[in-house]
Amino acid sequence: MKEYPEKKELGLYIHIPFCERKCRYCSFYSIPYDERLVLEYCDSIVEEIRLHKNTIKKYKLISLYIGGGTPSVIPLNILTEFIVRIKKNINILNKSEFTIEVNPNTLTERKIKTYRELGVNRISVGVQSFNDTELKFLGRIHTASQAVDCLKRLIKSGIDNVSIDLIYGIPEQKLENWANTIREAISYNVKHISVYNLSYDKGTKLFEDLTKNKFKKVNFIKEEFMFFFMLAFFKEKGFLHYEISSLAKSEKYRSKHNLNYWQDGEYLGFGASAHSYLIDNKNCHQRWGNISNVDKYIDRIKNNESPKCFAETLNNDELLREYLMLRLRLIEGFSLREFDRIFGAEIKRKLISKLDFFIDNCLLQESGGMLSIPNNRLFVSNEIIALLLSKL
Ligand code: SF4
Repeated sequence: MKEYPEKKELGLYIHIPFCERKCRYCSFYSIPYDERLVLEYCDSIVEEIRLHKNTIKKYKLISLYIGGGTPSVIPLNILTEFIVRIKKNINILNKSEFTIEVNPNTLTERKIKTYRELGVNRISVGVQSFNDTELKFLGRIHTASQAVDCLKRLIKSGIDNVSIDLIYGIPEQKLENWANTIREAISYNVKHISVYNLSYDKGTKLFEDLTKNKFKKVNFIKEEFMFFFMLAFFKEKGFLHYEISSLAKSEKYRSKHNLNYWQDGEYLGFGASAHSYLIDNKNCHQRWGNISNVDKYIDRIKNNESPKCFAETLNNDELLREYLMLRLRLIEGFSLREFDRIFGAEIKRKLISKLDFFIDNCLLQESGGMLSIPNNRLFVSNEIIALLLSKL
């Protein structure tokens, strides 16, 4: 297996799978909030972290991300004790990015204050839209005015690094409403914006309703227009587009946690359904995932059993695929020199031999030794990456 340059940085993810109600489009693992279960679940996560304590110590912790689910549904006293206990086991540096995801209707001033005291320095708000009809369609529990209040509260609190999520391509979404949402988004001094095209994942209520013809999907041309319109708008307002779905006010505000994923960095995930990726001392790239069931997760930890539901060692071919899939999400793409160093001259030659087709058809571009997807093709990046992988 090829040598990766030494990596000493690590991202940590903690999955809180509790939500007040399941959103119509959601394919993440989440269950209704249950206080008894939350206590046991938090205990289990602390225990899982404790079991990895010695591994974590070997790394420089660059980020801690508490996501879900809706971490902000956890009552403050429980969350405070939870984070204090986590901090006893890991060394969160002042410079580490510490993010918590929140739902706009669950974020009170007291919560913001306590999060800050606990060391949280980045808040990610699931706004999705500033239009009540669209929020209702998505099955979100908050309203547009609650999203506005939440963002105003965050400004007042002095939290500098606020990120919001937005969704476009919602059936019957008017272009005018999308324009209003993105305009509204920048009025609250947010530093980071993640923008997603509504997806119809199997198993979601949205997918089921689509198959029953309850609504019509937005057509490709309109979705593509919404995407490029949004990019042009935010770029004009000074945002840096650094990943297909992500924009930051400046380099400083790029998500360290997510960049670590896209740059093929190592991470540990804790809790039900969380995934991990580590390179061991034999340079084997290990990936595993925890069971997506809170009760079983708790039982396994209590019984000193592993909460993993799969574990695999990635072979060279899988590493190559992962690398291309993740790196080409970044607007800057990847360096061919680094590619050579990681995968060797033979695989690089193979890649280069396929590039003419992609470059001639403006599906990829090479500039200054970096290979990337041209800006005007970003909307079909998944298709371009899939085509490239099929040729290798
Ligand atoms: S709040 Fe987020 S995690 Fe919870 S159901 Fe909605 S989309 Fe899923």
